[in-house]
Amino acid sequence: MKKHNFSAGPCILPQSVLQKASAAVLNFNDLNLSLIEVSHRSKDFVDVMENARSLALEHLGLQNKGYKALFLQGGASLEFLMVANNLLENKAAYLNTGTWADKSLKEARMLGEVIEVASSKDQNFNYIPKNYSVPNDVDYFHCTSNNTIFGTQLKEFPKTNVKLVCDMSSDIFSRQMDFSQFDLIYAGAQKNMGPAGTTLVVIKEDILGKVSRQIPSMLDYKVHISKDSMFNTPAVFPVYVSMLTLEWLKDIGGLAAIEKINNEKAALLYNEIDRNPLFKGFVSNKEDRSNMNATFNLTDDSLNDRFNSLWTAAGINGLKGHRSVGGYRASMYNALPIESVAVLVDVMKELELGA
Ligand SMILES: *Cc1c(COP(=O)(O)O)cnc(C)c1O
Repeated sequence: MKKHNFSAGPCILPQSVLQKASAAVLNFNDLNLSLIEVSHRSKDFVDVMENARSLALEHLGLQNKGYKALFLQGGASLEFLMVANNLLENKAAYLNTGTWADKSLKEARMLGEVIEVASSKDQNFNYIPKNYSVPNDVDYFHCTSNNTIFGTQLKEFPKTNVKLVCDMSSDIFSRQMDFSQFDLIYAGAQKNMGPAGTTLVVIKEDILGKVSRQIPSMLDYKVHISKDSMFNTPAVFPVYVSMLTLEWLKDIGGLAAIEKINNEKAALLYNEIDRNPLFKGFVSNKEDRSNMNATFNLTDDSLNDRFNSLWTAAGINGLKGHRSVGGYRASMYNALPIESVAVLVDVMKELELGA
């Protein structure tokens, strides 16, 4: 039987997507060729790329609003550098809410002045700083919508005239929002969209071309846009699977439907964390809790072995917390069914009864 997969990334994908992807690896579009052995310039694959790009914009409500979607390589980590290369002329402002935010800020520092507007490093990133202000004279403001490792999530974004850039790697397509408040969004595929190997970048086109530096071609968003995301050979399999996931999401009702399910899953688990005296949440303010990654600990570490064997026996995978936080992390991405969360909650109750 398939495991209840709470892995943080790479992570669970819809079973129907995995089936279609497997079939296409053997015989793509009845061509009697594998998806991964046809030319990326063939009409069949160009259609995949175009479909994936347009579905991404459609889900975000950004069609015909001056945005372009790209499927690039190098992970979200390369975007840390590409964002700065394309947008940082003098100085940029960054909100530091976790390991990934910290890394993005370090990359940007190589190319210009970076102002850290606020940081939650003082408390091992267990909260989202509020009441900071974004200076008016920066080239852009960068934030991370969901902090995968620490289990915090931004529920609001600053109202500012400055360009807004957001790393949405671990909560893209998980909730409704006015995405037109952002000028650039990026997300590595392997958290909520597809296999590792491609990164979705959504850019408001008119923000580009404003920096004086020479940008190497592979790092230049304008180059990738001008070549319809095919400047070099794209990651054909990850893009194809991402397209299938975006189709799956459309079939089940899009962001409105998935947001409702994600809220239900998160409520189910957090209610148990709060109710069960053997558990405590890692995040200090409840309003900052992530609906994607729930981080929690046992109140009594001597119960670790028993809890670990209970959830393993229940068919649960991927519950160990990140090494920089410890404890446990349950990642509840779009494809995770609520039944899996119910199994975890039952295991938590079982631990309480036996303790
Ligand atoms: C996983 C993750 C990254 C890093 O992604 P890579 O594709 O491994 O480079 C960056 N930001 C966030 C929020 C992440 O969750």
